[in-house]
Amino acid sequence: MQPSRRAFLGTARNLATACAAFGAAGLAGHAAAATPATATPAASGRDTPAGHARPAERHYLLTNVRLEEGFEREGGVVLATRTALHTLEIRDGRIVRVEAQGTPLDAALPRYDAQGLLLLPALRDMHIHLDKTFYGDPWQAPRRGKTIVDMIEQEKTLIPRLLPESQRRAEQLIALLHSKGTTFARSHCNIDPVSGLKSLEHLLLALEKHRADFACEIVTFPQHGLLRAQVEPLMREAMKMGAKYVGGLDPTAVDGRMEESLDVLFRIALDTGAGLDIHLHEGRPSGVAAMDYIIKQVEANPALRGQVTISHAFALAAMDDAEVAEIGERLAAQRIAIASSLPLGKGALPLPQLAEKGVFLMTGTDNVIDHWSPFGTGDMLEKANRYAQIYRIFDEFKLTRALAISTGGILPLDAAGRRAWPQAGDAAAGVLVAASCSAEAVARLPAREAVLHDGRVVYGGLKKA
Ligand SMILES: [Zn+2]
Repeated sequence: MQPSRRAFLGTARNLATACAAFGAAGLAGHAAAATPATATPAASGRDTPAGHARPAERHYLLTNVRLEEGFEREGGVVLATRTALHTLEIRDGRIVRVEAQGTPLDAALPRYDAQGLLLLPALRDMHIHLDKTFYGDPWQAPRRGKTIVDMIEQEKTLIPRLLPESQRRAEQLIALLHSKGTTFARSHCNIDPVSGLKSLEHLLLALEKHRADFACEIVTFPQHGLLRAQVEPLMREAMKMGAKYVGGLDPTAVDGRMEESLDVLFRIALDTGAGLDIHLHEGRPSGVAAMDYIIKQVEANPALRGQVTISHAFALAAMDDAEVAEIGERLAAQRIAIASSLPLGKGALPLPQLAEKGVFLMTGTDNVIDHWSPFGTGDMLEKANRYAQIYRIFDEFKLTRALAISTGGILPLDAAGRRAWPQAGDAAAGVLVAASCSAEAVARLPAREAVLHDGRVVYGGLKKA
């Protein structure tokens, strides 16, 4: 039997006898990094359903959009979410007006009918590897090594096989993400001695074709080790090619010199003005030590506050409540975010406790299907559902809050039940679903009927009114 990802990572942890934590930059920093979308949209996703269209106009009305209006409470307990139909005026990629359905608006504008579907905020996949996936190819299960070093060895022959078609697979994966309502991603991209800068070049070609319909920020990821594979010069080259974040990987388990490895990463980030997103699979004690060192580096370099993410942070699962509370406060103070693929079972992380301390949480696909895992669906709404299931969230109010991990913190209603999104001036981005409210959408995972990005329908279609 193949070792599971958990068993594999557990082995990595044991070998390293270390812990890891992950931080991510604050929401403002992530949102600011979005790629401007100006090019012509490329075809993506399924055909537009019969009787539906994708607006060619940049200025139009979207009628009969269901938006959340408030909570219905009984004895202080939220029992239901109230919604109403609205018309959105969309112009040049922004929502410029949000009006109650029936409000007289410019009759000359083209109209499209959302037919009462609920509009959810656009979904954001904040940890994916678009550059190395099997997605789009015939089925193959991973052949997992026992340690991360085994996997690095495997990549030395696998990456050259994947590279010639990596742009096509990245585009097919983007089409899958579109179909799930995701139009923004943070993609790690291998920077290693085998592919050099080729993985990045191919990913940039894929993203260029999707400039109008998909925004992506790139993390340069030294999968074969930063010191181990001696890729600092390549990493610096890659940062010049448009990457937003300097990536890192298990500084003890892979590089064997935690402080030196992280020092190089931080130096690259400070020299280039970039943020950091560090894969940390290590457990106790090395992962805990690495988290502590990362936090101390951000404390010493305030320019990086709000610009650092720790991805996976499995060491958190090994901490007791007091340790979690303490590290949560320190992470929140430095606005270090955690990006988690939401591990199940014993590896589940104390994410609600961190959120209570004000730590910004994000989630991502990590793998849809590749040599690491065969299980991903690419669905960020499903991640919100998984969050709710892991942390036993059953009630209406908490289900509405669970959506935040999948939308960059954007929720239709604030905690008091006032509409927070969408507002005039917001980006015209979102997902139309057949659900009565966001709590139902998180619990029941409705199909995505139409996906908007920069005012354009990038998946599905709208009924022409
Ligand atoms: Zn990853």
